[in-house]
Amino acid sequence: MTTCLISLGGNLGDVALAIDDALRRLQRNPEIGVLQRSSLFRTQPVGADAGSEFVNAAAELETSLTAHQLLGQLLAIETELGRVRTIHWGPRTLDLDLLFFGNAVINDSPRLIVPHPMCWYRRFVLDPLAEIAPHFVHPGKHVSVVELLRRLLVRPLPICLVGDAKQVEMLIADLQPKFPNADLRCCHRLRDAPANDAGLVIQLAPITSSTFAVWSHHIVWLDASGHPDRQHQDIADILCSAGL
Ligand code: ADP
Ligand code: MG
Repeated sequence: MTTCLISLGGNLGDVALAIDDALRRLQRNPEIGVLQRSSLFRTQPVGADAGSEFVNAAAELETSLTAHQLLGQLLAIETELGRVRTIHWGPRTLDLDLLFFGNAVINDSPRLIVPHPMCWYRRFVLDPLAEIAPHFVHPGKHVSVVELLRRLLVRPLPICLVGDAKQVEMLIADLQPKFPNADLRCCHRLRDAPANDAGLVIQLAPITSSTFAVWSHHIVWLDASGHPDRQHQDIADILCSAGL
């Protein structure tokens, strides 16, 4: 049996009912047991097209299934409960994400990445999770859930943007007034970075120098270089999901 943590959230229809329904469906599977569930959290939507306020929760499961089989069950329940994938990060009846599958680290295909790559800095994931599994240690970051949450609650939260100086300055000029709880900085040297446990480092371009390669093992490192055309929105989404 493997103990797992999942997140549940949505913003269309009666989400509280959908969460109850999803957990009942999981419990009905003889190979899955629901050990614990959090209370419901109301959260602000993240993303330009996300729609209205979300309701989020987390649950602890035990299962004899493999991680891929469990993900298959989660995606099937999303569909049964009426989720239609139209816009990426759009409004949804229910999103079920596999956050942790025991201490497994799985990253061999985009179909399943565990631990969930964005779970460690999202308030709408960490808040419910801290209620049911505060001392669970993230197997990649080697830090507990409450500790990840505590680090996000520092105000102002230092956010270092690593990339082309001119581009970073422009992003900061635009984003800083919108996120007064963040202290946005441009970083181009290792000594500009925050201490190991303070804030987030967001990388905006692929790493070229070996200094940055070492640096990217930093616990608070986040790679946002994948979509250069959407960078402004991506960073705003990261800051918003970090509760800033
Ligand atoms: P998101 O959860 O980011 O809003 P979706 O729910 O539409 O996006 O998921 C897109 C795909 O992400 C799924 O089809 C699934 O195969 C993949 N995926 C990869 N890792 C995970 C994970 N840990 N939990 C849930 N889905 C995952
Ligand atoms: Mg999902």
